[in-house]
Amino acid sequence: MTQTPGPSGEQNLTSDDSGTDVFPDTPAAEGRDSDERDADELGGVWDVVVVGAGPAGSSAAYAAASAPGAEGRRVLLLDKAAPPRYKTCGGGIIGPSRDALPPGFQLPLKDRVHAITFTMDGRMPRTRRSQRMLFGLVNRDEFDERLVQCAEKAGAVLATGVAVSGLRQEPDGLVTVTLQDGRSVLARCVVGADGSAGRTGAHVGVTFDQVDLGLEAEIPVPPEVAAQWRGRVLLDWGSLSGSYGWVFPKGDSLTVGVIAARGRGAETRAYLKDFIARLGLAGFPPSIESGHLTRCRADDSPLAKGRVLVAGDAAGLLEPWTREGISYALRSGRLAGEWAVRVADAQDETGVNRRALGYSFAIKSDLGEEMRIGRKLMSAFERRPRAFHIAAIGLRPAWRAFARVTQGHTTFAGLARSHGLGRQTIDMLIRR
Ligand SMILES: Cc1cc2nc3c(=O)[nH]c(=O)nc-3n(C[C@H](O)[C@H](O)[C@H](O)COP(=O)(O)OP(=O)(O)OC[C@H]3O[C@@H](n4cnc5c(N)ncnc54)[C@H](O)[C@@H]3O)c2cc1C
Repeated sequence: MTQTPGPSGEQNLTSDDSGTDVFPDTPAAEGRDSDERDADELGGVWDVVVVGAGPAGSSAAYAAASAPGAEGRRVLLLDKAAPPRYKTCGGGIIGPSRDALPPGFQLPLKDRVHAITFTMDGRMPRTRRSQRMLFGLVNRDEFDERLVQCAEKAGAVLATGVAVSGLRQEPDGLVTVTLQDGRSVLARCVVGADGSAGRTGAHVGVTFDQVDLGLEAEIPVPPEVAAQWRGRVLLDWGSLSGSYGWVFPKGDSLTVGVIAARGRGAETRAYLKDFIARLGLAGFPPSIESGHLTRCRADDSPLAKGRVLVAGDAAGLLEPWTREGISYALRSGRLAGEWAVRVADAQDETGVNRRALGYSFAIKSDLGEEMRIGRKLMSAFERRPRAFHIAAIGLRPAWRAFARVTQGHTTFAGLARSHGLGRQTIDMLIRR
């Protein structure tokens, strides 16, 4: 399957949108027509409906289904695609992502990164190594499918091939989730986790202050080329403002990608093409080429509206400098699932609003803080990418700080709050 980015840069996933057989016949369903059967499967009032089964949605469904008092709780996880589905993503799993996984989750690692080669628009290469693993690499289809299975095991009901078209707050306190096929689902609380171009973010009124276009190619390579990359990634600071490129090895193939501010599509495509050529990979035909927008929330953007909470990319929760989003999706999804149960159990609308606010505060005091320092890093990186390169390749404390963030010992916000060399590095990088 070869995929190409659409004009907006959004992922073109027509093969996943084709409407798979979501509800196969069961003995109990025999003799009924399919519409009647589907309506039954989704019928009644659900305590929590989660829209989107990426890391944020599966994490929310898992948390909601396993929160205390789960006996009899009905949690529904909806996705327009059926797992395993391709997702445009480097699949880099840093420490905070690993730490936010459900207990016992086995990461389907394709490689363990112990070295990073940094380049500045192809020049000034330097490889930094670490004895301890820096981060892991996964293929998102496999990773996301395992997360969905965890949510199901915890008791959530999965319905795939179900595209949500809108949400409506009813006067009786329930939320109607309308589906593209004309059906609808009733919920006491909805978690919107349908990604950066989703419907639920629009319903809640999420606003963004940074939008970027990420382009990627999955490139199968012969064993001798794969061996050159094993355990090592490459990060290239690009010539477009705020851009960078990466090579992430995944066994017998490489995920090669670039990201830059939206609105410079032709230059971003040229960056990826030149990057691939420069690395000597132009002779290997990609199996998949795709693109996707990443969107970071504005600092005052809402995280909830009534009985609808948003998480992950749908809420614009993403690290602004690196555009790392899996840990944000897993962490916000878990919080959303826990708070959704409380919203669903609220006795009245005052209780609903108070609990929805509780979710917003939880996100703002944690991920909100991290995004604030990330914005400062991004702004400095746009102005002085060379300073970041010199720091990464030439300053031991800067490299150590970067390594400690990827390993999950601290975060950029944690470094900024600390009193050590890590803080001095951050201060040096973000000074005006
Ligand atoms: C090029 C690129 C590379 C990246 N690399 C990394 C990386 O290496 N590491 C990292 O941490 N982050 C990376 N990210 C960011 C990361 O991919 C996202 O932040 C992460 O996928 C967000 O997870 P999510 O669950 O919020 O949304 P998604 O993973 O986008 O999941 C949303 C789900 O909702 C479903 N959906 C959408 N609309 C509907 C609808 N109407 N009805 C029903 N279902 C719907 C979709 O099918 C999908 O399954 C990258 C992003 C890009 C663009």
